[in-house]
Amino acid sequence: SRSAAVPHWSRLIRDVPDFPRPGIVFKDITPVLADAAAFAGAIDASAGAWRAAPPDAVAGIEARGFILGAALARELGCGFVPVRKPGKLPGTTLFEEYALEYGRDRLELHADALPAGARVLVVDDVLATGGTLRAAVALLRRQGARVCGAQVLVELSMLRGRDRWDDPAPLHAALAL
Ligand code: AMP
Repeated sequence: SRSAAVPHWSRLIRDVPDFPRPGIVFKDITPVLADAAAFAGAIDASAGAWRAAPPDAVAGIEARGFILGAALARELGCGFVPVRKPGKLPGTTLFEEYALEYGRDRLELHADALPAGARVLVVDDVLATGGTLRAAVALLRRQGARVCGAQVLVELSMLRGRDRWDDPAPLHAALAL
């Protein structure tokens, strides 16, 4: 058997080359989600840093951040708030634009998603450059939330997102690849 330092659930993350574009190796977490023990292990590993001082809410980023974030919110006994792609939220929204490799994208949040000063943990599946997570943090702060940290399942170390994380709120990854 391989190193015990490698968590069992991480072996179910599947590399899909050239998705969604040539040159990108997509980290597909759907096999982790489909396996009961692996899903539980991934959520347990993601919860570890926050159990001592749980947030008031988890904010999950569409779409895989919804799945992990909602499960993590239940694990930590707190609420869940969706940070969505444009045009999906029915109520009054705030938005934050951010740069992508090609072009720009936008995240939206209900203006009344959280009470002022609520402590919120931001969750996504993969940290690449960190642009998505930074935009979500900025959006939540403009809404009046206090961001107590960020949690991802997988950090792609080669893309140096952590080096660009110049934020006082701690960033945790359950797995660094
Ligand atoms: P970034 O803003 O560059 O940190 O990209 C992170 C966002 O894009 C997250 O919402 C991820 O789900 C997605 N993403 C970026 N790169 C990958 C990858 N190699 N595999 C899976 N998802 C990725």
